[in-house]
Amino acid sequence: MINMEFKRKLPTPEEVMSMYPLSESLARQKAHNDEEIQKVFRGESDKFILVIGPCSADREDAVLDYISRLRGVQEQVKDKIIIIPRIYTNKPRTTGAGYKGMLHQTDPNGSPNMLKGLIAIRKVHIKALEQTGFSGADEMLYPENHRYLGDILSYVAVGARSVENQQHRLTASGLDLPVGMKNPTSGDLSVMINAITAAQNGHTFEYGGWEVASKGNALAHAVLRGYVNQYGQSHANYHYEDLILLCQAYSESGLKNPAVIVDVNHANSGKKWWEQPRIAKEILHSMRHSPEVNGLVKGLMIESYLEDGCQKAEEGIYGKSITDPCLGWEKTRRLILEIADLR
Ligand code: PEP
Ligand code: MN
Repeated sequence: MINMEFKRKLPTPEEVMSMYPLSESLARQKAHNDEEIQKVFRGESDKFILVIGPCSADREDAVLDYISRLRGVQEQVKDKIIIIPRIYTNKPRTTGAGYKGMLHQTDPNGSPNMLKGLIAIRKVHIKALEQTGFSGADEMLYPENHRYLGDILSYVAVGARSVENQQHRLTASGLDLPVGMKNPTSGDLSVMINAITAAQNGHTFEYGGWEVASKGNALAHAVLRGYVNQYGQSHANYHYEDLILLCQAYSESGLKNPAVIVDVNHANSGKKWWEQPRIAKEILHSMRHSPEVNGLVKGLMIESYLEDGCQKAEEGIYGKSITDPCLGWEKTRRLILEIADLR
């Protein structure tokens, strides 16, 4: 017996996309961003990618304010760095409790409303592109929902809690944009490599009520985010030795476009947000030390917002994370300039 109330039927991706379409000029801007980004993953550009922004896009005003500041810095470092803002609208929760992102709650202190959420997440991504020229990154938490944003995202991450899931892997195999497969919370790199393998190959599967055939996604790649041991303690996997191990795993795998984005927060910082600049610089140092590492590391993922740290949702401080703690704006701006200098 099904033990849930079917409250109302939600609009399909086609319906929401036709209500809130991407204009031709925005679609052109997005295609331009994609080309610049994808050249990096194909090894045709030496630019360094920063997937950067708040852990969760909790409110539209603060997120757009934050991203418009990123635009100013992007202009200063455009010869060396490509910024992809994190606009993360759905959040996995370790126990299922707590704020699950704008998709569930457009007001973090309000009740869940999935209809409002589906519209709000499309609108925030479109407004970011319209106001700043950036097409963003989001997490693929619910594979079926990808198509609500399928024409607007430039980067997708499959999270540490989802990377072993077949539907995520098969859906990733049907996308033509870079999909970052995170290492699982246990840290087992073979799970991540298996996920990349699955995503790089074509499959026939069921998706959105259809039998679909995917072509395989050659831009699926690794994301190292640290791991948690059996005692719940965080351990890093961004050090030189970890990067060399990943080079080896890639060379044994036969995978296309070997690439890693290193997430400098989460279990890599133990959520000590202030450690992110130190970790970022260590990775740049490892890249200078080894041509192999230099070829593999395509960029960093950084959790950053207007204010340092995090707060409880009820506190309501503008631009302060209500999920994982973030690096505040001034420190972020300095870090991006420093990364550009070190490249
Ligand atoms: C995140 O990027 O905010 C996140 C939830 O990451 P992970 O899946 O690595 O925990
Ligand atoms: Mn986070």
